Amino acid sequence: MLNRHVFRCCAVFVLALTGCIRDEPSRAEFVLGTVCNITLFDQARAQVYRDVFARIREIENHMSVNLPNSDIARINAAAGITPVQVHDDVFYVIERSLYFAGLSGGALDPAVGPLVSLWGIGTDNPRVPSQTEIDSVLPLVNWQNIELDYSARSVFLKQPGMALDLGAIAKGFAADEAAAIIKKAGLKRAIIDLGGDIITSGKKRDRSSWKVGIQDPLDNRGSYIGVVTVGEQGIVTSGVYERYFEAEGERYHHIFSPQRGFPADNDLMSVTIIADNAMDADALSTAVFVLGYEKGRALVDSLDGFQAIFVFRDNNVRITPGTDFVLTSEDYRF
Ligand code: FAD
Ligand code: MG
Repeated sequence: MLNRHVFRCCAVFVLALTGCIRDEPSRAEFVLGTVCNITLFDQARAQVYRDVFARIREIENHMSVNLPNSDIARINAAAGITPVQVHDDVFYVIERSLYFAGLSGGALDPAVGPLVSLWGIGTDNPRVPSQTEIDSVLPLVNWQNIELDYSARSVFLKQPGMALDLGAIAKGFAADEAAAIIKKAGLKRAIIDLGGDIITSGKKRDRSSWKVGIQDPLDNRGSYIGVVTVGEQGIVTSGVYERYFEAEGERYHHIFSPQRGFPADNDLMSVTIIADNAMDADALSTAVFVLGYEKGRALVDSLDGFQAIFVFRDNNVRITPGTDFVLTSEDYRF
């Protein structure tokens, strides 16, 4: 798992350096369950790296389901019992996740926690649950039973057994926060890559735009299928190759259909969303992956300021209008 992320970070990194000075520094740390790679191209200062990683760790401490004192763990422990007052960051990310849940008809569902726990994908003990087990948790996966109190800044899960999981959106939020710190420090050019949730800042030294490699879903060696040219934008991919396990010849990935309780099963291998910020791109990439091409494409087309790259199981690639993408792999076709 770790290796795959490391390789993928490198793919983006190499592309970013094209046309730039080779030894410009970057810093990688393991946070949010993945390798987070920050590259500051101008006047990179140790203090800025420290501030950025401190902020990412702060977000992890508030939003991780795995840390018993996080706000998310406290909300989950109080499901069906009592509302829990939370940090403003947590309230905001939950609020945005509910916005995208509504927009996608529940394809993105921050109440997916019970399914994530049941399958254990990404843990040491993943397994295919029985249909009875899945049926027993499905009623708990319902974003409409998450209640926000705007004046008390509290969150209440209406049913016992419900559980939030912000894995589909919080990395994007952390990437945006990292970008904001870098900007505030006066640094003009940076690439933030939180395990594949990327946000670019400024332009390359030669004033040309950033080029970001789109991972080949069939190749975990960091090779890419093509290159997308972006401005100051978030570029986030959801795909079958990110986290998965295999059982009896079947591959089970970590992006669930909240309706069926199984990994979303369609003709897509990955969806990349390009947006003005990484959080919206993160939320939408997961939602669109769950919806599948037809409905997902319709959703992207209905929104302003979003672009998408769809990679299909049959190696076809489709893009939405305005996406500046060049296919470089001979294994794929438009
Ligand atoms: P995305 O497509 O963006 O999201 C998929 C993830 O969202 C799934 O892993 C699941 O968690 C959730 N999800 C699945 N289906 C849906 C759905 N339909 N709607 C909404 N959400 C869904 N990983 C570790 O191994 N150890 C850790 O300690 C750890 N801590 C983390 C702490 C934080 C605060 C965050 C944000 C992530 C952490 N992670 C950790 C990683 C996390 O478990 C996910 O694997 C990761 O966020 C998935 O990101 P992605 O870009 O691969 O996929
Ligand atoms: Mg996502």
